[in-house]
Amino acid sequence: MRYSLIRKMDISNGSGIGVSLFVQGCHFHCKGCFNQETWDFNGGYEWTQEIEDKFIALANKPYIKRISFLGGEPLADENVETVFYIIKRLKLLYPEKKIWIFTGYTWENIIHQTSQNDLTRLMTIALSDIVADGQFQIDKQDINHKKVLWVGSLNQRVIDVKMSFKNNDVVLYNI
Ligand code: SF4
Repeated sequence: MRYSLIRKMDISNGSGIGVSLFVQGCHFHCKGCFNQETWDFNGGYEWTQEIEDKFIALANKPYIKRISFLGGEPLADENVETVFYIIKRLKLLYPEKKIWIFTGYTWENIIHQTSQNDLTRLMTIALSDIVADGQFQIDKQDINHKKVLWVGSLNQRVIDVKMSFKNNDVVLYNI
């Protein structure tokens, strides 16, 4: 996997103060994407064991309440296995910290498909706490950011993962 950016103290991409990883590469190419430099899977920087260890250590602070994965596309075939592995490490070390994933896949895409990569995508969200789903749609942009927090267009949802699995239906995250 390759990555674009690490934010060690991020207040924009999830509730509270967090650490964020912007992975590199996205197939969706949404019109109006805020982060087009992350589309190229060959761009950014190599994700090495050393970088991973440093990233995981960044979360080991009491004021860090969450770790967010965005991009780029964290659940792309090229990225999902590595993201899954990082989240497993984080959950073992810091079970109380929330994992947020921002993805262009919809919840329904992830739940209902059946390839090996789909299975890894499903296991990855099952380990997470919050999923912001769906591609950015410029014609549904929420310019005033009044109706949607953390996402850019009204079709995107911020989903409570545990409650959604429990209810067998999408449950939105209640701040
Ligand atoms: S899914 Fe996200 S990163 Fe990918 S093109 Fe759409 S807005 Fe950009």
